[in-house]
Amino acid sequence: MKNISILGATGSIGRNTLDLIQRERDKLKVVGLTGANNIRLLAESAIKFNADIVATSNDNKFHDLKEMLSGYQVEVCAGINGVLEVASRQVDWVMSSIVGSAGLLPGLKALEAGANLALANKESMVAAGPIMKRVAEAQGVKLIPVDSEHSAISQVIRGEERDSLSKIIITASGGAFRNLTISELIDVTPEQASKHPNWDMGQRITIDSASLFNKALEIIEAKEFFGLKASEIEVLIHPQSLVHAIACFCDSGMKAHIGPSDMRHAIAYALYEEKRFNLPLEEVDLSKVGTLDFEKPDLLKYPALKLGFDVLEQGGLAGAAFNAAKEEALDNFLDHKLSFLGMADVVRATMDELSSKNQLSSEVELEAVIDIDRQARLIAKIFVDKF
Ligand code: NAD
Ligand code: MG
Repeated sequence: MKNISILGATGSIGRNTLDLIQRERDKLKVVGLTGANNIRLLAESAIKFNADIVATSNDNKFHDLKEMLSGYQVEVCAGINGVLEVASRQVDWVMSSIVGSAGLLPGLKALEAGANLALANKESMVAAGPIMKRVAEAQGVKLIPVDSEHSAISQVIRGEERDSLSKIIITASGGAFRNLTISELIDVTPEQASKHPNWDMGQRITIDSASLFNKALEIIEAKEFFGLKASEIEVLIHPQSLVHAIACFCDSGMKAHIGPSDMRHAIAYALYEEKRFNLPLEEVDLSKVGTLDFEKPDLLKYPALKLGFDVLEQGGLAGAAFNAAKEEALDNFLDHKLSFLGMADVVRATMDELSSKNQLSSEVELEAVIDIDRQARLIAKIFVDKF
């Protein structure tokens, strides 16, 4: 029996993970589940999967959650300590699918407790990749990519020599506004940015897909997972979202990964630790697709991507600052206090400010990551009023 916990069980990735577990209940046991505000779904999942422990990150929801689960044999806890308690339970495999930097400490806790960690929460890799890798190595456990592009990379480089790899191409759908011009982007709303053409995901990553902030995070995530330099990563817009990554080799050969736009493909690959699982997903019918398009992204239209490459080159604490500033900018866009294009302006200004004070070059240690995250949010908040 493989024991499993899911951090962020009520979100899009969490629900897809439970959907896979449901198909193999005789082999997979759910130990812990966490969520934030959707405690009804959290309680229903705890009951359905017979979980041992659940936590809501929202302290105010503790009593309601406890009441929903009264009469069931399940431990209930709340707040960040409750989430960390779930993460520290000894299991074989943990899905890290909390959204944002809130996923960092629980993910680390799970690694420290000796679990293999499936990482959907790209923010923790962007902010603290070296720490995540250090802890995983010290514990002798695996860090497994879940992001579709990174799962695809791990599939196409498998069995290949690192030296023979010359470049990785990561694709981006272009998100909700792929067909809009820069001037048409000025007035777009959070509601419009929340509609992804190909993927069904949480709201924040959907908006990050429209701005390409998501791709900016992903190139940094790719650097951390696969030891790539900026010059070894290329991003291409691929509207069909069927080719997720392409590995280019020194003999000019290329290997592309084609898969459905359904996260259960990548989650299953992580769940079975790089073994194929018989998944009844709809196969991609290439004869129906007909054409696969690729084009270079316009960096004027997608300034977030340019910022991402700068952060990748900078290294150190730049990833943590970038992610925090981006989260602050996104919160303000969602609150209609900042325009869609203003998000990249705020993040760039924040990064420039921190760089000019030489704040980003320190070693990536946990305290420094937490401190730069706090500073970046404060500075970004000030810039929101200026843009
Ligand atoms: P989501 O918004 O649907 O779900 C987020 C989960 O995190 C929920 O369970 C929510 O309750 C929990 N959560 C939110 N705030 C929290 C907090 N402060 N503390 C603790 N828990 C909190 O998001 P999602 O789309 O499932 O994405 C989750 C992660 O996976 C993100 O890092 C995202 O970038 C990554 N990811 C998602 C997809 C996708 O298809 N959805 C694909 C690739 C990577
Ligand atoms: Mg992705």
